Amino acid sequence: MSDPVQTLLDQLRLGIQTSGAVRTARNATRRKPEAGHDLRAGHARLRSARNRARAQQAAWRSAWRTCRGAAFRGSARSAADAVLAELAADPVELVRRADAVIYHSSAGKDSVVGLHRAVQAAKRAGCLHKLVVVHADLGPDTEWPGVRELAQRQAERYGLSFLVVAADGGFVGMVEKRRMFPDAKRRLCTSSLKRDELAPIYTRITAALGLDEQALIVSVYGVRGGESAARAKKAPLSIDSRASSGKRLVLTWNIIHHLSAADVWSEISEHGLEYHPIYDTGLDRLSCAYCILAPDAALVLATRVCFALGLPIPGVYVDLERRIGHTFKPSQTLAGVVAAARMLDALDGPLVWSRGDAVRRHLGEDACRRWEQRLACAA
Ligand code: SF4
Repeated sequence: MSDPVQTLLDQLRLGIQTSGAVRTARNATRRKPEAGHDLRAGHARLRSARNRARAQQAAWRSAWRTCRGAAFRGSARSAADAVLAELAADPVELVRRADAVIYHSSAGKDSVVGLHRAVQAAKRAGCLHKLVVVHADLGPDTEWPGVRELAQRQAERYGLSFLVVAADGGFVGMVEKRRMFPDAKRRLCTSSLKRDELAPIYTRITAALGLDEQALIVSVYGVRGGESAARAKKAPLSIDSRASSGKRLVLTWNIIHHLSAADVWSEISEHGLEYHPIYDTGLDRLSCAYCILAPDAALVLATRVCFALGLPIPGVYVDLERRIGHTFKPSQTLAGVVAAARMLDALDGPLVWSRGDAVRRHLGEDACRRWEQRLACAA
């Protein structure tokens, strides 16, 4: 019996390959003329790749008609989007179709809820063995203490394999080398410390699968649309063309894209999920202690938390600013942030908080008690 989802997925794979071939052929025709570079042959290859892409689009439409019993009105690209939306709406089916599922864990609150959901889908699909958790470590004096260990405990709660990638020197080393901090437009911290470091993992996992056909790898993130305008525009499921190749089709799955922050805290309480104590201080993102995207108030609060915990991070960053002659943000120096934090500590006294304050703040005392009980049971 024909399998409609498989037929459409096969077309999706072919689509990636043909558009990749068109891209490669087009780039070859744009190279500077040099010895041994045959431009005419390059144009012939481009024509042939475009013909293949046209044939593939016709195949898309034909597959759609066969599977759905009606003509598809739209482009091959919108047909691909429709298939991806269908798959995203059925997490169990998506995990069943995948050859491997990589969960990208930051250990943050959204991340732990996304992981719990991915595990439930994998269990229902009978495929928990496909799931592996990967954490990108941004280095000492950058992340809050215990992030990596928490990510590991969150994975081990479900018996999952846990991998860590870490760039040499971490965030501080990268800034020192470039002699400037990244910013919202050039988020080198995300690309060089996370994406580039994760690339070999795809190669390793694809090789370990040892398939004769193109592997389907689902790459899962705890990204919520409500976090920012840019994230709201992301699709729940999309093709990661950068990580995909002839050997693997990589899909990016934002598994909790539709959840609100309140939903996240409810799931943390309901399932007794372990979250990082940094949320109890009033900070609402785990990330780096000093994130280039954080508002000034969050930077000041993070500094006061560092003072309360006796962490050296503020001194390391202020010193870094001085050494490289570049400020943390175009409009804000960390030296200024530290001075503001010192002033608030002098006025109000040092920060204090208790374990569970984040759940208490979002859901109330009863929910906090239930969270503590469930967390103790899960341990
Ligand atoms: S948390 Fe902020 S500073 Fe840290 S890597 Fe992400 S974007 Fe960069």
